[in-house]
Amino acid sequence: MPDLILIGAGHAHLTVMKEMAGIIARGHRVTVVSDGAFQYYSGMGPGLLAGRYRPARIRFDVATMVGDRGGRFLNDRVEQIDPHRRRLTLASGKHLTYDTLSLNTGSYVPGPAPQKTDIHLYPAKPVEVFMTARADIAARLRKQPLRIIVAGGGPAGVEIAANARALVRRLRGQAAITLVNRGTLLSQFIPAVRRKALAKLKRLGIRVMENTSLAAIDDRAVVLTNGRKLPCDTLFSAVGTLPPPLIRSSGLAVDQSGGLLVNHHLQSVSHPEVFGGGDCIAFQPRPLARVGVYAVRQNPILHHNLLAALEGRALERFVPQQDYLLILNMGDGTGILNRGRLTFGGWPAFWFKHIIDDRFMRRFQLSNERRNGRTIEDRGTAPV
Ligand SMILES: Cc1cc2nc3c(=O)[nH]c(=O)nc-3n(C[C@H](O)[C@H](O)[C@H](O)COP(=O)(O)OP(=O)(O)OC[C@H]3O[C@@H](n4cnc5c(N)ncnc54)[C@H](O)[C@@H]3O)c2cc1C
Repeated sequence: MPDLILIGAGHAHLTVMKEMAGIIARGHRVTVVSDGAFQYYSGMGPGLLAGRYRPARIRFDVATMVGDRGGRFLNDRVEQIDPHRRRLTLASGKHLTYDTLSLNTGSYVPGPAPQKTDIHLYPAKPVEVFMTARADIAARLRKQPLRIIVAGGGPAGVEIAANARALVRRLRGQAAITLVNRGTLLSQFIPAVRRKALAKLKRLGIRVMENTSLAAIDDRAVVLTNGRKLPCDTLFSAVGTLPPPLIRSSGLAVDQSGGLLVNHHLQSVSHPEVFGGGDCIAFQPRPLARVGVYAVRQNPILHHNLLAALEGRALERFVPQQDYLLILNMGDGTGILNRGRLTFGGWPAFWFKHIIDDRFMRRFQLSNERRNGRTIEDRGTAPV
């Protein structure tokens, strides 16, 4: 029986998991290895920090989704891929062999490494970290005002800063929030987006420091490259992401960043039985931003191509859209929308985002997540 293995139950694997019963009915065995029974939707992650969304609302119960459809779900971590022997080594010590493999292992925020400091440090990924950050900020705000620093002035950094402000307001606490960015804020977008974001952050009382970055972290402060020292209690790092080192160390072909190098079919250029989607790939035909939008669009192509590879049929091409819709959640019920030359802000932008995100959640929340979902970590947060 041909074995299909999925590593990571990420945004690009959702259709394969949803349609798994059909794959199994055709005589294939399907295994998903992911290090968590739930997959959180990153687009709604900043709203989790603010307390706008309960965890149950923004996650997929992937273990149940797979089990209900006759697949095997292993809550485990792949430590090694041996593409020559088509063999995986898991953290538990198990070994698995595959005929066809698909990688959707996401990305991580590199450094600063956890160190001896009183500063509580949170990387922007995985988004589950916002649950811990929210509880931690809430507990400490009861005792004292906080100094919160966000490193990184891309969409994630802007959203984290704005949603940290929303959390502080919701809790009626006090915090000085500073966003520090190596270059200019949101430099990859048209100037109107940057202007709107700067104006909004100012109205939210968030200080923005551009053209400087973190040089060092000491006990209770961060030191910037411009020599300034900022007292800090909580530090969020949103300085960009990299594909996990697992891929480079496997010997599969990768680009400079370590992303799995794939062709138009989302197929490894070095090992045709290996496919991938989402943040962990490097799309050879042209570079793609590491955004969930592309991961989501890759779903039907991966579904078709994995089955086609198992059965020796023709593969389909992934044709990425030229630009993508960006909507920043600014924490207070407003957003900033951009697509091409179009930009506008305010509550319509946020509600448009909310409707799109919620529709996406409903498409893949197939295991009664919302009904079953009031878990311990849900307590104390307010739904929209
Ligand atoms: C704060 C923030 C806000 C964002 N907002 C947006 C937005 O609004 N719109 C947008 O398009 N993009 C947004 N992004 C970008 C988005 O997060 C990523 O592009 C998206 O998460 C990529 O999805 P993925 O499926 O590739 O990876 P992930 O969502 O990270 O999924 C990877 C999965 O693989 C598992 N995994 C990883 N390694 C292993 C292993 N070795 N073994 C087993 N399992 C493993 C992980 O646990 C995880 O479940 C945002 C990012 C951040 C940080």
